[in-house]
Amino acid sequence: GEGLPRPAATRVIVVANQKGGVGKTTTTVNMAASLAMHGLRVLVVDLDPQGNASTALGIDHHAEVPSIYDVLVEGKPMADVVQPVVDVEGLFCVPATIDLAGAEIELVSLVARESRLQRAIAAYEQPLDYILIDCPPSLGLLTVNALVAGREVLIPIQCEYYALEGLGQLLRNVELVRAHLNPALHVSTILLTMYDARTRLAAQVAEEVRTHFRNEVLSTAIPRSVRISEAPSYGQTVLTYDPGSTGALSYLEAARELAQRAVGPGGGSLVGQQRG
Ligand code: ADP
Ligand code: MG
Repeated sequence: GEGLPRPAATRVIVVANQKGGVGKTTTTVNMAASLAMHGLRVLVVDLDPQGNASTALGIDHHAEVPSIYDVLVEGKPMADVVQPVVDVEGLFCVPATIDLAGAEIELVSLVARESRLQRAIAAYEQPLDYILIDCPPSLGLLTVNALVAGREVLIPIQCEYYALEGLGQLLRNVELVRAHLNPALHVSTILLTMYDARTRLAAQVAEEVRTHFRNEVLSTAIPRSVRISEAPSYGQTVLTYDPGSTGALSYLEAARELAQRAVGPGGGSLVGQQRG
């Protein structure tokens, strides 16, 4: 790929929005693939019991596969559960299995229940440029673990009615975690997803989001695209499924913005966890 800047330290990005169906998983896997195809080393952590990110990356995640559950609940090293993504060099995945559905409850009684993912990531010694964490559609202990482990929050927003509803709750949670557990945490990026340029509503919602989050919203919006929605059923990201499609190009462009903003003026995200 045509070089994107390599961050000085691993950027750990939490992809979160407690609404389901807004494009968290789609954004996680396609941004991750875009960064990897530019020559960066990227790890996707699937933190949703549905395992949609694992599926989209073509990673086997039936019940017996070692997964993020073993890391969070059993304390297994991340290195033992990471799998390479076939077809995309430099892209790796920690899969989620259905076991993870019980973790929300099981974590409650464990020591350091909020920081188990953070500890596992800190102990993982492989050099990585990016870690993208795909959150479930809730604000429970799994999402809290992601917010403690990450430094940046990326919020995908679907341009429809009620897009901003519930966002306040996520922002309050980010603020709580920042105040008590992870002082570096901040919302660094907002991505408009499933954008339909033909509707006035989409334009209005986009305008409203850009007014609220002037510095965070990427100028690239991801269009609604059939190719994007078809790719997961082939165990692929749209980057390999249909590299020339508008969906693929928009994610490449969004990833370029994400990578470049951090090193540009005012980008505070470079102060990261130092690489081994
Ligand atoms: P979340 O992880 O927030 O629940 P997903 O990423 O799974 O959301 O997306 C929800 C649904 O919308 C999925 O079926 C996905 O394939 C589809 N989708 C996501 N982004 C797009 C897009 N840009 N164009 C068309 N379909 C999309
Ligand atoms: Mg999802």
